[in-house]
Amino acid sequence: SDSHFPVPISPSQFDCTLQYPQFLKSDSSKKIEFADIGCGFGGLLISLSTLFPDKLMIGMELRDKVTEYVKERILALRASNPGQYENVSVVRTNSMKYIPNYFEKGQLTKMFFLFPDPHFKEKNHRRRVISPHLLDEYAFVLRAGGIIYTITDVEELGVWMKSCLEGHPLFEALSEDELEADPVVKLLSTATEEGQKVERNEGQTFRAVYRRIASSLPR
Ligand code: SAM
Repeated sequence: SDSHFPVPISPSQFDCTLQYPQFLKSDSSKKIEFADIGCGFGGLLISLSTLFPDKLMIGMELRDKVTEYVKERILALRASNPGQYENVSVVRTNSMKYIPNYFEKGQLTKMFFLFPDPHFKEKNHRRRVISPHLLDEYAFVLRAGGIIYTITDVEELGVWMKSCLEGHPLFEALSEDELEADPVVKLLSTATEEGQKVERNEGQTFRAVYRRIASSLPR
């Protein structure tokens, strides 16, 4: 249960020097910008780490053993590639409850939801990691211009995620040209363990990539 892992009471209490000891030695003011929600075995983070060596990124994963595996994987990569993978880390947490405990308003520039659990039954839709209510939280921690990336092989879930994003006043879809130009988009279906499984089985995927827009409310 939740009582088995510590949760910072607020973002300022989240001690990142434990996550990125080397990186923060040279620039202690840097903050986490990318969050991979339900990161699983960490394949996306590992790819992003070298693609964006100057950005700090974190995976959030509920399963204890999986989180430990990702920690070990990162430590092994750091050990065998000195100076690399110092910008990537993982934390065990329930992202559906604690996102605001980890990130300040407008801190993140990218959030990832790759192949999340589908929760098929109507009464379980409230357990989905994308919902109108949770999008309010994601909009809060994302900076204007920040991007939310989602992908799934479950059509029903893909339609659901897209409709939640489409219906939210603070998100707009990226255009086809923008999707084409973004190197991260290509990783969505290839970099994670779940994505690779779907690719091996030649399964279809459903993607929704949206930008956090600035609030248009009158001041
Ligand atoms: N994104 C990875 C990939 O594409 O390979 C993993 C996909 S896996 C189907 C979904 C992951 O989300 C699982 O590892 C699960 O433990 C994690 N998860 C589910 N609910 C979560 C929550 N509330 N907070 C954090 N992680 C969660």
